[in-house]
Amino acid sequence: MRLVACQSCHTQYDVTDVADERFACRCGEEVVNESYDPVDTQIHRCGSCGANVADPEAEACAYCGSSIVRDDAKLSLICPECHGRNEEASRFCTGCGVAFSPETVKIEGYELPCPVCGCLMPPRAIGGIGINECGSCNGIWAPADRFEQLINRAIEARKQGERLETPRVKGGNPAVQKVAYRKCPECEAFMQRRNFRRSSGVIIDTCKNHGTWLDADELEQITGFVLSGGNPQASQMMEEADRQAADAVKRIRLAEFQQHSYTSRSSGGDLFGRTIVGVLKGLLD
Ligand SMILES: [Zn+2]
Ligand SMILES: [Zn+2]
Ligand SMILES: [Zn+2]
Ligand SMILES: [Zn+2]
Ligand SMILES: [Zn+2]
Repeated sequence: MRLVACQSCHTQYDVTDVADERFACRCGEEVVNESYDPVDTQIHRCGSCGANVADPEAEACAYCGSSIVRDDAKLSLICPECHGRNEEASRFCTGCGVAFSPETVKIEGYELPCPVCGCLMPPRAIGGIGINECGSCNGIWAPADRFEQLINRAIEARKQGERLETPRVKGGNPAVQKVAYRKCPECEAFMQRRNFRRSSGVIIDTCKNHGTWLDADELEQITGFVLSGGNPQASQMMEEADRQAADAVKRIRLAEFQQHSYTSRSSGGDLFGRTIVGVLKGLLD
């Protein structure tokens, strides 16, 4: 696999089969499709789990046990950030620690139809993570594994003790959500609805091949849930949200994928999380 990264937003692209010398990044900047000369770097991170590798002679990762490969012949993937050599299947660069998470180059553009409104969602980056955002319903499409990256980024920001800012939530009232099966903006198959980490009460839509859809405010609710670490005060609210979500899904199933959507009360995540949007959108925008 051959990767390049946008110099502006650091979105990575798999250019193994891309002939164009330049193409547009989802952030609007131009990316040069170049082959990097590999650089010999010291191994600081595990290529499988990203954990620190303290011992420069280590044979295996102390956390996940993955072997640490130093044979250049087996290191065919060049990191688009530090140009260090890595194993083809690495998930993290062993030199600079960046996660390998390439997108497919789309010569025809990165706009995608919103699964809720149908209008085109322009691409943008939050904290260097490429997503699509609907300007109408404020939902977010996180391609591939960007969803986990977004959460991790928000948590990092919070842990660094960044000052919380006033939230800039532009979305509609999160307490009233339309509940319906939604189609993946990339393949148009119905997405799977699931309760994030089973007990968060936040229902997200996932296409296993293409990414995750988040309604307005759901990212903040999820980040709040993760950061609360199972706050017992919150568990009752979550159980109730779970129950309501399950009810809603049942009703939708009965409706046999009719195009109508139902409106149901949902207990939202206002208890926490509202402040996280300040961190996320304020600091990382
Ligand atoms: Zn970019
Ligand atoms: Zn490891
Ligand atoms: Zn690197
Ligand atoms: Zn929309
Ligand atoms: Zn899909």
